[in-house]
Amino acid sequence: METTPQDRTRPRHEAGHAHAAEQPFTYPLTRQYAEPDWTRIPGYREVTKQEWESAQWQRAHTVKNLNELKRALGELLDDELYADIERDQRERATMSMLLPPQMLNTMDFADLRADPVRRYMAPAFSDRATEFPSHPMASRDSLHEADMWAVEGLTHRYPTKVLAELIPTCPQYCGHCTRMDLVGNDTEQFLKYKFEAKQNERWDAMLDYLRRTPSVRDVVVSGGDMANVPIKRLQEWLFQLLDIENVRDVRIATKGLMGIPQHFLQDDVLAGYEAIAERAHQRGVEVAIHTHVNAAQQVTPLVGNAVRKLLDMGYRDVRNQGVLLRGVNTTPNQVLELCFMLLDHAKVMPYYFYMCDMIPNSEHWRLSVWEAQELQFAIMGYLPGFATPRFVCDVPFVGKRWVHMVSGYDRTKGISHWRKNYRTGIEHDDPEALQREYAYYDPIYTLPEEGQAYWREFLARERGLELTPV
Ligand code: SF4
Repeated sequence: METTPQDRTRPRHEAGHAHAAEQPFTYPLTRQYAEPDWTRIPGYREVTKQEWESAQWQRAHTVKNLNELKRALGELLDDELYADIERDQRERATMSMLLPPQMLNTMDFADLRADPVRRYMAPAFSDRATEFPSHPMASRDSLHEADMWAVEGLTHRYPTKVLAELIPTCPQYCGHCTRMDLVGNDTEQFLKYKFEAKQNERWDAMLDYLRRTPSVRDVVVSGGDMANVPIKRLQEWLFQLLDIENVRDVRIATKGLMGIPQHFLQDDVLAGYEAIAERAHQRGVEVAIHTHVNAAQQVTPLVGNAVRKLLDMGYRDVRNQGVLLRGVNTTPNQVLELCFMLLDHAKVMPYYFYMCDMIPNSEHWRLSVWEAQELQFAIMGYLPGFATPRFVCDVPFVGKRWVHMVSGYDRTKGISHWRKNYRTGIEHDDPEALQREYAYYDPIYTLPEEGQAYWREFLARERGLELTPV
């Protein structure tokens, strides 16, 4: 029998009965968005607000060695931890110490040994892995960025984008720095590469390469840290970059935005950044700022103030590229708390978390690929999709791959295999580049006993010889 419109009944739903449930991660946050009181630190007891908010004062009082750290922290740094950091600097450190007071003030002195910021900015010998502090396949320039230089300091790895390493210094030095080959001062164990060409010549050569390479549209302007380039010099170079027809996206990289936000709140620096934003707007180029925050406690109002100024000038975005570091930010709660602090308070977009790279002595910080995959799963669904960070493995000779893109994985030996869909700048004549599989290695202490035994034998065989990829 035929039904008429009158016979049909409109579907109905029961009154809403969903409600907020208890979740593995609890929101809203309980952490305060506040500048920690620096006068709790013995060396800063007499420091005024005006001094604290001065970039000159921050730079002049940046902690450059362990003695200065002790002078600043006094009784907050006990003898045992002091000796442990001292031994690390003698035997393991790949980066020298450099800590602006602003960053020091974000440490939690109730338990300095366990504090996430201390663990990555002032590493101690006993933090490191014992049997294998370095993976046998670790190397200084583990991403082979220098191998892919088109001109000195300009890495051409991806088809349409390049990385310009303008300078090798930062206002702070991070223990896990992936550019430890190049960035910072020599340490007891590691002499740094020094750029050979003069800075002006190098910077000009980069621009020349970009002018004659129209396939490049996107330039990451990094180092080092752009907070260490005098603003006038940065502005001049960026103006020339923005005049290149093929350049459509520019990203300015600075961890200093968090480490020393006072730098970005100076009148001349603000004027320079405003001029850069205006020039980019006239040219129809998107300019964004990329920063590097690894711990929720480092998101403070001074950071938020600096970010707000940049966003108000028209920067496309301020994005965070953190590094996953065990003991710092590798539980779901640590990652989510950091992302919500960035998003809610500082207006910084959570963007990427890189797996810590295979540089020497980094094993204790690194995660296995499967751990990173589980962590990515654990954070899904809490943040808005546009602010859900991707966890990426930067695979040597490949580039960034999302951690679930692994094409093969031997969990026993901890060797993952990855493929790529483009040629890096040094593979233009390599017919196999797109068919080959590239390896990445889990930290050995995370492997089952059989896998650990494999690497012990591997090392015994290879000790003293040049290593070749497995
Ligand atoms: S700020 Fe970046 S480049 Fe500088 S030491 Fe830290 S990780 Fe390395």
